[in-house]
Amino acid sequence: MLLKSLREEVLEANLELVRRGLVLYTFGNASGISRKDGLIAIKPSGVPYETMSAEHMVITNLDGGIVEGDLRPSSDLATHLEIYRQFPNVGGVAHTHSEFATSWAQARRPIPCFGTTHADYFHGEVPVTSPLTAEQIATDYEKNTGIAICRHFANLDPDAVPAVLVAGHGPFCWGPNTTAAAHNAVILETVARMAYYVLTIASDAQPIPSDLRDKHFFRKHGVNAYYGQEKS
Ligand SMILES: [Zn+2]
Repeated sequence: MLLKSLREEVLEANLELVRRGLVLYTFGNASGISRKDGLIAIKPSGVPYETMSAEHMVITNLDGGIVEGDLRPSSDLATHLEIYRQFPNVGGVAHTHSEFATSWAQARRPIPCFGTTHADYFHGEVPVTSPLTAEQIATDYEKNTGIAICRHFANLDPDAVPAVLVAGHGPFCWGPNTTAAAHNAVILETVARMAYYVLTIASDAQPIPSDLRDKHFFRKHGVNAYYGQEKS
């Protein structure tokens, strides 16, 4: 069996999304990539989580061709592939319809950076993609969703903002590996919920100043990071 440890990580990330309440039934999907092999492991489509195992993960190449597996891959595979192709540092992708992040996506409003919890993970607002055209929906819908995501990051660093809200749909999150992508999806949901509460308490609330945002983001990310324990 190919990519045993990647399969296990991808399975675990998918289960984590369920445990954290981000996924109902079989909505949502997580995947991971082995850049060295050019292969992706992704959740199969429509398999109940209770019986899902690492063997069920589907291995595909970067063109979506199935390399190993009897099951159909998640129907959002083409969106994941586009993210892997365009964002070279991404090692894992997680997609959910989690309640608060999806509500922002449906309202087509970016999530403002109201506090340091947000700034610890996302350097600035979490953006919303432009809606797809009728033609983009009719043909290659999932791929066009991925293209819309990547187009939005033409002037934005996907490593600094590892999440996006797809207009009228829901969040896609990513990270250096699948575990990090799922973690970012959990944090995004929390940040989305808190932002909703902030605007409920004070409808004129403003994002935190850029110096506080930068302090929190860069103490955890990048060359000058100092949060946590030193990595050996
Ligand atoms: Zn979806």
